[in-house]
Amino acid sequence: TDEALIAFDTLADRASNLIQPTLRLGVTGLSRAGKTVFITALVHNLLHGGRLPMFRAAHTGRLARAYLEPQPDDAVPRFQYEDHTARMIGDRIWPDSTRAISELRLVIEYESASGWNRFFSGGRLCLDIVDYPGEWLLDLPLLAQDYAQFSHNAASLARSSGRHDLAAPWLEKAASIDPHSRADEASARELAQLFTDYLRACKTEDRALSTLPPGRFLMPGDLDGSPALTFAPLPNLPDGPAPKGSLQAMMERRFESYKSVVVKPFFREHVTRLDRQIVLIDAMQAMNAGREAVIDLERALSDVLSCFRPGGGNFLTNLISRRIDKVLIAATKADHLHHESHDRLEAIARRIVERASANIGASGADIDVLAMAAVRATKEATARQDGEELPVIVGTPLAGERIDGELFDGNRKTAIFPGDLPKNPDSFFKAVDSDSRLVAPEINIVRFRPPLIEQTETGMKLSLPHIRLDRAMEYLLGDRLA
Ligand code: GDP
Repeated sequence: TDEALIAFDTLADRASNLIQPTLRLGVTGLSRAGKTVFITALVHNLLHGGRLPMFRAAHTGRLARAYLEPQPDDAVPRFQYEDHTARMIGDRIWPDSTRAISELRLVIEYESASGWNRFFSGGRLCLDIVDYPGEWLLDLPLLAQDYAQFSHNAASLARSSGRHDLAAPWLEKAASIDPHSRADEASARELAQLFTDYLRACKTEDRALSTLPPGRFLMPGDLDGSPALTFAPLPNLPDGPAPKGSLQAMMERRFESYKSVVVKPFFREHVTRLDRQIVLIDAMQAMNAGREAVIDLERALSDVLSCFRPGGGNFLTNLISRRIDKVLIAATKADHLHHESHDRLEAIARRIVERASANIGASGADIDVLAMAAVRATKEATARQDGEELPVIVGTPLAGERIDGELFDGNRKTAIFPGDLPKNPDSFFKAVDSDSRLVAPEINIVRFRPPLIEQTETGMKLSLPHIRLDRAMEYLLGDRLA
């Protein structure tokens, strides 16, 4: 059974942990939230002695050495750290984003401050970083639903404001089909395609929605085109069981196999074995898109946190929450803002997380919230305008970026005024809870190139600049390096 398999894995992990202290860190977030950039920056800073004043082990000089080692799980693709750093530091272009699960093992040797740890582990920690799409995590609620409930939930979400226009082609097609008609592959494919198109449209920048299950429709991993993904919800299902051989019966079967061959094994083999979890969110993108996007981010976070909540009645969540003792929610890309706004971003993210937890009455794992830029692509400056000093950020826009009509070629620096975040989260959330579409003044998000890493006189490359990455590391790893 699943329980037995998980219990066995957990026991095996515990046993190897005795010989070899290991911390399995999950890194997740919806696509483009910044997972690849975060892992690359974290590893690079540890390998190359980055500036990490808030990471105590580094700051007090107790980090002796860090190096990569072959990962323990042979069946999981390796996180391509070398390719990502070559692109980011060598070519100054952003690395390829996460498309599926991957793993990397980093060994950290440190001088233990406590005699106990010195004696037992000799000051050596294996950090196993597991990178996976947040879309897959958002599939957990599906395990508690049957096909009829799934169809009902998907249809009512699709009809909600902020979505119904995008969902219209799928809803119309689905309405024209009798669920009891004979099953045929062509209709199943067409419905799955229209449903996927609708989900994809919800992801675009001006909508920036987050809750878009089933997760593999947008992030198929290696399952693209397989029958387990060739289904769609059917709105307006008649009561009663699906007649044999009907389209409804076929969809139902595929939904059930999606749960049993895709969702469950993923949780069982990967998520239940994590010790700590960081969840990256692009809060600024949601804020720019308006209240629907902010509310949807909140909904997605409720689903994420419910994975880590004990006593949810789901045996998988019970196992996950038993093991994961710390969760960090990090609002990424804070380098798009002037530093005065970093605390404001953090305050807004914290409030979104509080509201998301309140929705589900979550408690359990220790949860913290942070605003961060794993890689800082900008510098700060002030500009004079009409006799006034204005805070600006300076960076090199990506080739092809257009600012006020001006086209950039990727070689030229420019200063922009990023815009301010609301000072008071209360007024921001009042706007979210009212009907206004725009809840805050727009933040000017320019896609900058990764920073130029200067060389020291001895020819050594300086490490990647960041904002508050060291705080994230302290929260996630600090106690294990004490
Ligand atoms: P993933 O899909 O979660 O793996 O997302 P990535 O790590 O690939 O990040 C997606 C994009 O977001 C990158 O290509 C960058 O343009 C941007 N990005 C991510 N992290 C940062 C950051 O710390 N600073 C800046 N300026 N941009 C970032």
